[in-house]
Amino acid sequence: LSSDIDRLQDAVRAFAEARDWEQFHTPKNLAMALAAEAGELLEIFQWLTPEESRLEASESAFESARSEIADVLIYALRLTDVLQIDLVEAIEAKMQMNASRYPVQLAKGNAAKR
Ligand SMILES: [Mg+2]
Repeated sequence: LSSDIDRLQDAVRAFAEARDWEQFHTPKNLAMALAAEAGELLEIFQWLTPEESRLEASESAFESARSEIADVLIYALRLTDVLQIDLVEAIEAKMQMNASRYPVQLAKGNAAKR
């Protein structure tokens, strides 16, 4: 997994470098772009019923969601690259925090925020 992430991060960096876009890839701009792409993802689901939100009835909505999820993650990869955050370590640390914040015996079947 770590090498897949490295490979993707290298590809996204090379894409930006080839276009001389590093100048635009400040952490602020990348965070804003990530949030904008998350908004594009959200827009696909806006007003759908819970059942419709499974996207089983709309191939075009499914493809749009697939594409916007990729956009979100591309910006997450780029932002962590620019900030020199180890994405695998960051996710593992966060999952550990979540595990202690939501112990199974308290959180099982219960979506309450703690
Ligand atoms: Mg997009």
